[in-house]
Order: sequence, then structure tokens, then C-alpha cells
Amino acid sequence: MSETLTNFINGKHVAPKSGQYLDLVEPATGSVIARVPDSNADDVDAAVKAAAAAFPAWSTTPAIERSRIIMRIGALVEANLGRLAAAESRDTGKPVSFASTVDIPRTATNFNAFAAMIIGSASEFHAFEKGGVPGALDVGGFNYTLRKPRGVAGLISPWNLPLHLLTWKIAPAIATGNPVVCKPSEVTPTTSHILCDLLNEAGIPPGVVNMVHGRGQTAGAALVTHPDVPTISFTGSTPVGKWIGKECGDRLKRCSLELGGKNPFVVFADADLPAALPTAARAAFANQGQICLCGSRLLLHESIADEFVKHLVTWANQLKPGDPADPATKFGALTGAAHLEKVDSFVKLARDLGGRVLAGGARVDPADLPARCKGGSFYQPTVIDGLDPTCRVEQEEIFGPVVTIQRFKTDDEAVALANGTAYGLAATIFTRDLNRAHSVAARIDAGLVWINCWMVRDL
Ligand code: NAD
Repeated sequence: MSETLTNFINGKHVAPKSGQYLDLVEPATGSVIARVPDSNADDVDAAVKAAAAAFPAWSTTPAIERSRIIMRIGALVEANLGRLAAAESRDTGKPVSFASTVDIPRTATNFNAFAAMIIGSASEFHAFEKGGVPGALDVGGFNYTLRKPRGVAGLISPWNLPLHLLTWKIAPAIATGNPVVCKPSEVTPTTSHILCDLLNEAGIPPGVVNMVHGRGQTAGAALVTHPDVPTISFTGSTPVGKWIGKECGDRLKRCSLELGGKNPFVVFADADLPAALPTAARAAFANQGQICLCGSRLLLHESIADEFVKHLVTWANQLKPGDPADPATKFGALTGAAHLEKVDSFVKLARDLGGRVLAGGARVDPADLPARCKGGSFYQPTVIDGLDPTCRVEQEEIFGPVVTIQRFKTDDEAVALANGTAYGLAATIFTRDLNRAHSVAARIDAGLVWINCWMVRDL
């Protein structure tokens, strides 16, 4: 019998007011495993009211006390690592080995790091001298910046690293004294549901963290447009982010948007190729290519391209999809049947446009999967060469295990290809030339450029 999840409002698990639920489907099997509240604007309003009521006391709780409670949450996440990783793997289809070494440890770090930061936090002051400001009174002085909690924060998160990305919002918000209403992705709700019990156990006061499950266009939109939520933090797709940005602009809400990527991974002729190859493969296929920072466009200097592609294809062919619950599995399922269809439609388009599919290019044959997984959403690691860099496959985010190849002759060509999409989230370059590394990194229009590595970062 499948489990029924609840919302979490004012410290209590509650059913959605409408009594409506969505089916939660396990991507690795295609089976319904739980029912998720299909919450509406009334549920969101109840959660916002609980958060607003908690604001006066939480925002004036001494930082050291907030920090102690948040540290306890971090410790409880660590103590429940196995249970949380199993739930994360089950909801997403990602290998449990990935969830237990990336998602859940990083979740604990989110709490621990922001609990520590709030204790050491400081502000700025700016002095000015007598006579230094024309037209002002002839006095000196200083300005200072006072950081104050803003009120209820609405936090909306995606499915690819569900608990890690949601807690990356919860931890800084509550550390700085702001209560939150969270709207986790409706396709991966279980770990945020488990987190609610850990919050109570850690001693978070009722109303400081509230969880409302449901669809984006109903529960998510009600949170974005709620008049008593002055701050929205969203991680997800670019089209939804654009809509949220407009709605927040109309209401003069403060809004943070972490959106999609189509990230270039550039390998120059002078690169350390034995280091670049496994990094490029990991950047293409980690979490089945469902990380916003994945290097989905591989740009290769023409002198090394053929050899590099040959090895990458071997790598992709050896990456065997398997049951995400098996600790030995390195490559799991895509997040659901609809997402698999989207990924496959891009591969079909690539073929129609004359692209050469050198590895993968199809869903995994059920005969190659364990019995439990025959109805699951498994797609082969895919390498595609020979597309025009301006075509849709090269321009739009696929968000699956699909990497495309482009070749360049000069540094200028590499930079033009790297910058040749509307995205600008991240990039990677591999070169042994220090001058080239820094000059190319500076010319790539991306928020984050890795040099000779990928996904190396700190909070
Ligand atoms: P999505 O935009 O479909 O959904 C993200 C969240 O927004 C979900 O909780 C969803 O229910 C909610 N939502 C959808 N429509 C909404 C609306 N109208 N109003 C309010 N909320 C709404 O994204 P997804 O498919 O869950 O996640 C994949 C996307 O997330 C990819 O584009 C990926 O690149 C991006 N992503 C970005 C980062 C980053 O840090 N930049 C990290 C992870 C994922």
C-alpha cells in the first residue's frame, strides 16, 4: 500500500484542505509509491499565516540560539543519511551511491555552514571626512549597513537535487531570522517530508519552516503572488523563472532566480587529456545529465577531437544503467516517463538534423534491466556529433545524458562557440597554458568558469 504524504504547517503534519492528492511515481519502476498533497492557495495561505506569526519571535531569537538549533538539524540529517539517501534515490531515480555521497551530505553541510556563518556575520561601514562631500554640512561621519530579517520567504525548488537545493534556501533564510514556506518539486517530495520530523526533533519553533506540496501552477504560483511573502527564492527552469521574475517585479518583491544551463566544456590541444576525459564524462553524465551545471556541449580543438571522442564513446558505452537502489549502480533512471520523452525527442531531432549518434541514442532495452526496473525510465548515455551549433539541440537545455560535440581551430572560435547560446550558467576549460586559461575564462560569458576541473566549489 502506498504512503500518503502531508503538508507541514505550524509544526504539524496536515492534509491538504481540498483533500486532493497527486500520484508519486518511482522513476526506476514506473510504480505509484505514494500520494502527494495537491495543495491549493488556501493551503499556501495557512502556511504563510503560520510563518508570519512565527516571524516576531524567530527574528529576535539570538543568533547563537538560532545557530544551535540549525546545527542540530545538520546533525540529524547526518544521523538519518541512509534513510534520506534511499528516499532521494527512490523519488529521483538517481543511484543511491550518488544520493548518499552528494545530495544528503551536502544537505547537512547547508545547515552546518549557515549556522556557523550567522555567528560570525558582520556588516559594513563607510566613513567620510569633513569637507569631503560638496554641499553637505561641514562635518564628517559614517554610514553603516544594518542587516535585518525581511519576513516570510517563499522557497521553490526543482527535482534534480531535491533536498540539497531546498535546504540551500532554508538554511540561510532561517539562520538570518526569516521564517519560510517551501514548495518542493511535486515529483520528488519525500525527503522534504522526512525533513519536517527532523525539524521538530531539532527544536525549530512551530511556523518557522512550513512545507506545502503540490503543483507549480497552483501551489507554487499562489506562493509567488501571495501579498505577505516579500522574498521569493526559486531554482528551476528558465521559462518558469521568467514568469516568477515578472510577477515579483510587479509586486516589488525581492527575488532570486537560479535557472537552466547549456554549459560548454572546452578542451584545448595542450590540455592534460587523461585528466580532461574522465572529467568531461562526469560533467556529461553525472546524475544522468540532470544537473544544471552539467557540461552538455563538448567543444574540442580539432587536433585532439577524434581521439577524445573515441574515448568518450567507449566511456559512455561502459556506463551501464542499473537499479538506483543497488549500491553498485553508477547510472540510474531519468526522473520520469515524461522527461524521458523530452530527452528522446531531442535525440530524434538531432538525427533529423543530420547529427551522428555515436553512443546511446535510445531508451534502455528492458531486457538489459533488473526485473524490478523493467517499467522504469532509463535512457542510454548519448554522444552526438556533427550538428550545426545554432540548431535547437545545441541551443536548448535537454537536461539528460546527452552530450554534443563541436570542433574549433582557434581560441577565438572556442570563445565564440562557448558564448553562442542564450545561457550563461557555467563553463569548464581544460588547458595547461596559464595565460590561455585566464584570458579565455574572462572572455566566456558565464557566472562560473572552472579551469581544469568541474563541480569543485564551496558554499
Ligand atoms: P521547473 O521550473 O519545472 O520546476 C521547478 C519548481 O518550480 C517546482 O517545484 C515546480 O513545481 C515549480 N513551479 C513550476 N511552475 C511554477 C509556477 N508557475 N509558479 C511557481 N512555481 C512553479 O524545473 P524542474 O523541471 O523541476 O527542474 C529542472 C530545471 O531546474 C532545469 O532547467 C535546471 O537547469 C534547473 N536547475 C537550476 C539550478 C541552478 O542552480 N541554476 C539547479 C538545479 C536545477
